[in-house]
Parts: sequence; structure tokens; C-alpha cells
Amino acid sequence: MDGTGITVKLILIGDSAVGKSSLLLRFAEGSFEPSIKPTICVDFKVKKMVVDGHTVQLAIWDTAGQERFRTLNPSYYRGTQGIVLVYDVTRKDTFTGLESWLNELEIYTTKSNTVKMLVGNKTDKPDREVERREGLQFAKKRSLLFIETSAKTEDGVQHAFEELVIKILQTP
Ligand code: GDP
Repeated sequence: MDGTGITVKLILIGDSAVGKSSLLLRFAEGSFEPSIKPTICVDFKVKKMVVDGHTVQLAIWDTAGQERFRTLNPSYYRGTQGIVLVYDVTRKDTFTGLESWLNELEIYTTKSNTVKMLVGNKTDKPDREVERREGLQFAKKRSLLFIETSAKTEDGVQHAFEELVIKILQTP
């Protein structure tokens, strides 16, 4: 099978302002907005990707601001094959908040084969509060893929989605 016609649902989760919409914009449209207003919700984008010779249609969902309550509508998680869990490397609270997101994931993602990736975003900023090795350690402990990114400079963004999709295609 060459993978043509495969649609993969991905969702972005994590605290407010960590850069979820920016990652989606960067990946799907190659753009970056220095001041995305919370009211401008990205919601959902489709992007075609060729990975290992497979053509995959990615449907990527953004929280549209619901995450301010640190919980999301259960329907958001339905049918999800990949989860991008984002924190901001310059805000420690968004890293410590990961635990509650993982608890929520356990409740709503009943399928054990959902692939999860931890993303430390905003690496271009100088005021880092979470070191790379801390992110890596946490990801290892919780069996998550891990990558650091900058939605601003594009660093790691393509790679993050590629790795996630490769893993999803390998997961039965
Ligand atoms: P969301 O609430 O998680 O969707 O976060 P947004 O995508 O709205 O981003 C919040 C703010 O952080 C916006 O002002 C973005 O321009 C900024 N931002 C997002 N990603 C990055 C990044 O990688 N580097 C820098 N310097 N700023 C970023």
C-alpha cells in the first residue's frame, strides 16, 4: 500500500500561549504572526505530507482557546491518532502543567495506540526556564516522543510533525 488517501487526525494541546496556533500556522502555511490575538482561532487545518513514500493527509486541530480552563471538550479527542503536547521553554509553569494534560489524555484517549509527542516551543527566546534535558527526561519517563521547536524561526517544526507521522504509520 502506498498510503494514498490515508487521513491522520492530530490534535494540539497544552497551556494558553505556548504557541500551539503558531506551530500549526508555521507547519501548514509557513507563516508566523508575532501577535496572534486569542480571538483569531486557527481551529483546524489540512496539510498533505509525503513521509517515507506515503502520502498522508493530516487533519490538525487547534484548541481555539478552550485550554484556558485546562480541560477540553471530550469530542476534541475523538478519533485522534497523534497528539502534540506543547509547552513553552521560557515558562516553567507550562512545563509543570504537563502532568494535568497527561491525566486528561489518559481519560479521553482510550486507544493505547495514540502516539504522543512532547514539544518544547520558543527555543529562539533567550530567557529559557526549562532545559532541553529536563524535557527529554520527562518525555522518556512518560513514553512520549520529544522535540524542541521554534515556530518563529521554523526550527524543528517540520521535523516534529514528520516524526510523529512516521511513528503513527508504524503503529498498528
Ligand atoms: P497558543 O495559545 O498556544 O495557541 O499560542 P499562540 O500560537 O497564540 O502564541 C502565543 C504567543 O507566542 C504569540 O504572540 C506568538 O507569536 C508567540 N510565539 C509562538 N511561538 C513562538 C516561538 O516559537 N517563538 C517566539 N519568540 N514566539 C512565539
